[in-house]
Amino acid sequence: MAGEPQADCLFCKIVSGSIPATVVRETETTVAFRDINPQAPTHVLVIPKVHYPDAASLAAAEPQITADLLREAGEVAADDKVDSTGYRVVFNTGPGAGQTVFHAHAHVLGGRGLDWPPG
Ligand code: 5GP
Repeated sequence: MAGEPQADCLFCKIVSGSIPATVVRETETTVAFRDINPQAPTHVLVIPKVHYPDAASLAAAEPQITADLLREAGEVAADDKVDSTGYRVVFNTGPGAGQTVFHAHAHVLGGRGLDWPPG
């Protein structure tokens, strides 16, 4: 059923606690944890507890949880004090854009200069 945990999904395992992560924030609907391979001093992933493969499918099915996720991205930036210097929220969508984990997630990146356009 849509949104149900997937046995083979890494981020569903982080939600359930069966794979450890450095969790920095948790709400009823979201979990935020530090990326295992950080690309900036702040690199936190914010994920919904429900399983959807990408941000667009999450937004179509769960607009309130999508709003929760975006709010939490801002809270992560504030907690890490990168909100005043600027930070980036990224949703890689599809293998061609670098998505490797097919459970919706926002990357929150900050703490260094961020070039535009991104690579
Ligand atoms: P994507 O490439 O799908 O946009 O982002 C997936 C992210 O998950 C990558 O930045 C990668 O470093 C991160 N990642 C992959 N495996 C793990 C893990 O086991 N723990 C954590 N904390 N991050 C992971």
